[in-house]
This record gives sequence, C-alpha cells and structure tokens, in this order.
Amino acid sequence: MLPLSRPDLLLSDAFLAGRPHAGAERFAVTNPATGALLAEVTDCTPEDAAQAIEAATQAQRDWARQTGKARAAILRRWHDLVIAHADDLATILTAEMGKPLAEAKGEILYGAGYIEFYAEEAKRLYGETLPGHQSDKRLIVLRQPVGVVGAITPWNFPNAMIARKAAPALAAGCAIVVKPAAETPLSSLALALLAQEAGLPDGLLSVLPSTWAASIGQEFCDNPRMRKISFTGSTNVGRILMRQGAAQIKKLSLELGGNAPFIVFDDADLDAAVEGCLLSKFRNAGQTCVCTNRIYVQDAVHDAFVAKLAAAVAALPVGDGFAPGTAIGPLISPAAVEKVRDHVSDATAKGATLVTGGAAHALGGTYFQPTVLSGVTAEMAVAREETFGPLAPVFRFQTVDEVLAAANDTDFGLASYVYTGSLSRSWQVMEGLEYGMVGVNTGLISTELAPFGGIKQSGTGREGGRQGIEDYLELKYCCLSV
Ligand code: ADP
Repeated sequence: MLPLSRPDLLLSDAFLAGRPHAGAERFAVTNPATGALLAEVTDCTPEDAAQAIEAATQAQRDWARQTGKARAAILRRWHDLVIAHADDLATILTAEMGKPLAEAKGEILYGAGYIEFYAEEAKRLYGETLPGHQSDKRLIVLRQPVGVVGAITPWNFPNAMIARKAAPALAAGCAIVVKPAAETPLSSLALALLAQEAGLPDGLLSVLPSTWAASIGQEFCDNPRMRKISFTGSTNVGRILMRQGAAQIKKLSLELGGNAPFIVFDDADLDAAVEGCLLSKFRNAGQTCVCTNRIYVQDAVHDAFVAKLAAAVAALPVGDGFAPGTAIGPLISPAAVEKVRDHVSDATAKGATLVTGGAAHALGGTYFQPTVLSGVTAEMAVAREETFGPLAPVFRFQTVDEVLAAANDTDFGLASYVYTGSLSRSWQVMEGLEYGMVGVNTGLISTELAPFGGIKQSGTGREGGRQGIEDYLELKYCCLSV
C-alpha cells in the first residue's frame, strides 16, 4: 500500500463523464522500480471514448457560455486542491513512473503552475475591433473555444502533461478527453477527481486509461465531434495522427521528440556548465523530450569539461525513487534500457571512449549506470536518435560555424542549450539554432510562463504562456454593416 493521506486518490476505474467507469477489461499498472502491482485499471475501449466525447460535447456548450471569471474560479480551486494534495500526488507519480520523489513533487508543482496560469488567462481572452474597410462597416474578431479536445499523453510526465493540456483547454471553454499512457494512468485519474472536487462540471474532463492506444487514437481522429487533438509523444505516432486526422482536417498540437544539443564554449563558466548539463541531461534519468542528447564542447576546454562532468555523473546516486537522496531512478521499461545499451555499444564500436558507466546498474531491474562517452561523432546513432536515458555523449568542436551546423544537422528542433560568457556569442547562437527553445547559461527552461514547443519534426503548437491558449481558440471575424 502506498502511504497516502487520501488513499481514495488512488483510483483504478476510468473517469468517464464524472463517474467511475469499471469497464469489462482491466490492465495492470506496476511500479517500475520493484515490479509491484499498484492497481488494475479499466482498459477503455473506443466505444468508451465515443461515450466520453458525447458527454464532453453536451457539457462543453454550457461551459463555453459561462464567464471567463466563473471558469477561472473553478480552475483556481483545482489548482489549490492539487497543491494541498501535492505529497499524495507525488507519491502516486513516483510509484507508477519511478522518478525520484523530490522530482515528482517538482512535477506536481510545475503542473499546478499551468492550472494557476490558465485560470488567470481565462479572464483575458480578449477579442479585437478593427478599423472598417467601408464607413458603414464595423469589424470584430472574436476568440471562441475550439470545442471538444482529445489529449494523448506520454508516461514521462504523468501529471504535468495532463495539466498543461487540460488547463488551457478548460480555461478557453473547451472540454477534454484524456488518454494517458498505459504505464502511468494513476496520476491523471487523481487529477480528474480533484478537478471534480473543485466543482468542474461532469463531462468536461474524462480520463480513459487504455491499452488500445491505436484504436482510441483512431476514434479521436474519426469522430467529427472531436475538434482537436493535442498529442505529446513520439514523432512516429505524431505522424500517424496527422495522417489519420487528414480526412477531417483535424486540428493538431504535436509535441514530439527532440535531439537537444548542449554547447559549451571555451569562455563558459565550466562548473556552471557541468551543473546545467547534469540538470538537462539526467533529470528524470534522461527521459524527457528536452533532455540534452548531444554535448558539444569547444576544443580548449574539452578535456577539463569531460573530467568534471564524468566525476559529477559517477557520483549521482542511483536507486528507488522513494529512497532519500536518489538522483536517478529506474528506466521505464526493459526496452528503454536496451536503447541506451545499443547507443553505448554503437558508439564504442565506432571509436567513442567510455569515460564512466556504460552498463546495467548493480541494482538490476531497469536501472542503468549514468554514463559519459567522449570522442563521439556524427556517424554514431546517438547523434541522430534520442537516447531517452542516462547517457551523455560528448563531441569536440573548434568554431561557432562548425558547431551551429552540427547542432542543426537533425530532423528535430525542440530544446537547445548553450553556455558562453559572451553576450554577442549568446545572441549569435540563440539566433542561429533551429530550435523552438534555447537555454543560455541554464539547463532548465521549462515553465508555465513561456511557450514550450518545437519546430521541424519536433512538432507544432505551443504549451504554456499567453501563446499556449491559442491552440484551444478559434478566431471568428464578424463584419457588421451599421
Ligand atoms: P513513448 O515512446 O513515449 O511511449 P508514444 O508516442 O509511443 O511514445 O506514446 C505516447 C502516447 O501515445 C501514449 O499515450 C501511447 O499510448 C499513445 N499511442 C501510441 N500509439 C498510438 C497510436 N497509434 N495512436 C494514438 N496514440 C498512440
């Protein structure tokens, strides 16, 4: 049993239109650190999805008619309840996902930030009046909710990925049907219960755990009442949804994979760069889409940086997310471990040097040693593919032009990072990087206050900031002849 002050936050039935839905089938949710069974949750079907979409359609009409201030009040209460139960939510999150408890708590607060921010924004969905093109014409632009939205989310941020879609959608006056990752449905079910306790009307937020991801995705795309899909996950599934959505010109927000470069110039503060690199590379054991994937270090400081990084990485405590002091938890699955192992062996076979780590951890299971490789080159798999694990590959470079070309030589364009002591070089690199986000002298860029998202094959649309709510609004131009 998990140590929860509110054990009823651990739900195993789907949350369909405000009610628990037992369904016909169940699937197991386990703790990746121990393999222990946490819950047998409802395995929702495409028919359940259709039912949730129907209920959302009914509920959304009234919701859209409410004032922004009324919607804001409910979202604000939801935020307060999430904060009040942050410890329980973090416990559920660590149990189902594996990340260290302190990181899980950080995710709960980060997710709550989106709810708070969009509660505030609900009151500020301003339209516009435009100068008319004829003297008797008055032109107005309204901003109205898209309607019913589907959310499909990954396992690496089981709470925040829901919060950052549901909060702007609900603030805008939309309803939302969530299909969380099968690995981590428990955090999203707890969030839905708290939303209901905050006074959110039934039907506006349904959560449908399922192992039938593809057929639920198909229902989302085929159901004409579903007006938009917001997806976070792999580029491959994003591509599938885009293809499937084409028939109905489905609106899509896609937050897909990354291949983040982390560039260290010879005028950088090396200790700060190592610290930033640890944060951006090893947070969530390397399992985030903004995690550093390629580290480029300028020739003059290369050896010193590698030595400092390797010492810091070797000292990272690996263990169960609930053990005090753990910095690196287990990976989500054996397949995730295999990918890290493949990237290490591919790189070493092609001439890279293993500086620290490189193998399964003595703890067994899905634990992997935090690893540093040097002498990495563009020919290695790790240069092109997201490792999504605790592997830091270091490349050497000489000039700004060379490193910009290398950093941009990828199909992806989500996060990027640069460390330099020079203001003009910061600007030069910031402007030259083909990415949706750039961190300068920082390894941590995610905040609800800013538009998070990618370019190229990392996706389309933004989450967070004033811009994030635009994905859930339609513009309506009205021309009045007076
Ligand atoms: P990851 O590798 O992080 O699991 P995925 O893109 O496979 O990335 O999964 C992200 C989310 O997409 C999960 O909720 C998963 O169940 C869902 N998913 C997987 N395949 C499909 C599909 N064909 N259509 C819709 N959703 C899918």
